[in-house]
Amino acid sequence: MSILHQHRCPSRSLTHVPASPRQSPVALLTCSATTTKPRSSRDQLVIEPRLETKLDPITPVIPTAGPPLPNDPSLQSTWSHRAWVASGYAGYILADLLSRVYHWGIDNYGDSSTPVFGSQIEGFQGHHKWPWTITRRQFANNLHALARSITFTVLPIDILCNDPVIQGFVTMCAGCIMFSQQFHAWSHGTKSKLPPFVVALQDAGVLVSRTQHSAHHRPPYNGNYCIVSGVCNEFLDKNKVFEALEMIIFFKLGVRPRSWSEPGTEWIEETDETQPQVTVY
Ligand SMILES: [Zn+2]
Ligand SMILES: [Zn+2]
Repeated sequence: MSILHQHRCPSRSLTHVPASPRQSPVALLTCSATTTKPRSSRDQLVIEPRLETKLDPITPVIPTAGPPLPNDPSLQSTWSHRAWVASGYAGYILADLLSRVYHWGIDNYGDSSTPVFGSQIEGFQGHHKWPWTITRRQFANNLHALARSITFTVLPIDILCNDPVIQGFVTMCAGCIMFSQQFHAWSHGTKSKLPPFVVALQDAGVLVSRTQHSAHHRPPYNGNYCIVSGVCNEFLDKNKVFEALEMIIFFKLGVRPRSWSEPGTEWIEETDETQPQVTVY
């Protein structure tokens, strides 16, 4: 069977379609082929020439040479960007508040025989007597207990929750809590012996300052419990929020906080006999 190809399209030229940046021109050049004798429409293969322009939403915008213009969308924050930043900041603030709740509870309630928290209560009472020892603890020694708790708390959240904003919030909060004991140790350091970046962060209020935390170790021993940034201390102390909580606990449960009693030996700092007196300011 002889088949004579006839090009219905007069040439192989393509009609040029100017492409906009968001369009991906797809030019389809097809030609028809027919036999010399007309056949029934069933046997006839006709391929009509077509020129199609398809929108391809996946095709990225090809940037032009040079820096983006001031109003370029790529320079603007999206709500997703804002949510990431806000969740991280909220995690940082919450970590400071949680460090206060924990420290306040440990300082005021229970004793060494209290289940779960007994050793920590004893440890914090020891810290009030010999606060300088925290500066001599090595990094891992100071952080391992909190790191272990954080691991077992954060891991299930990360597995169960796949929202990156929530994960960012949890990670920031948990990270600050985990490092809070190091921030606490730095707040007991002397300015001349601390790394300059730590002093800068303390002076900027990003980390709990030496001045603010030293007030916790002075009478009446009932404030400045935060040990992350200390940003919550002023508001909560001024408004006596935790003193109100102590009243509620006393009237509901009949338990008095230690801070209501005259400072005993568990609160008062002893002199470091092995080293020259370190003044925290
Ligand atoms: Zn304390
Ligand atoms: Zn301290």
